[in-house]
Amino acid sequence: MSVIPIFKKSALSTECDQCGVLFDLMHGGVCDRCQRILCRTHLHGSWLRRLRVDLGAPSTCVDCRAGRTPAPPPKRSRPGAPPPAR
Ligand SMILES: [Zn+2]
Ligand SMILES: [Zn+2]
Repeated sequence: MSVIPIFKKSALSTECDQCGVLFDLMHGGVCDRCQRILCRTHLHGSWLRRLRVDLGAPSTCVDCRAGRTPAPPPKRSRPGAPPPAR
């Protein structure tokens, strides 16, 4: 055994701002409107919506599309993130 599986663990996994589940960024994304990082369940809601986003629709999360004001992202130390404006 000489090959070390360095890339076995995805470097693109992150937590959903809504439910906190760890997901691969390939299966979710950032909402255009509220800027939250969301798993595909909370960003797209359904595979049909996901398909439309793949075809060029804006990736707006379930809450924003429903007209709800989503809770702000939980406080988290994100490198490079600007301090919250007051
Ligand atoms: Zn989620
Ligand atoms: Zn949103």
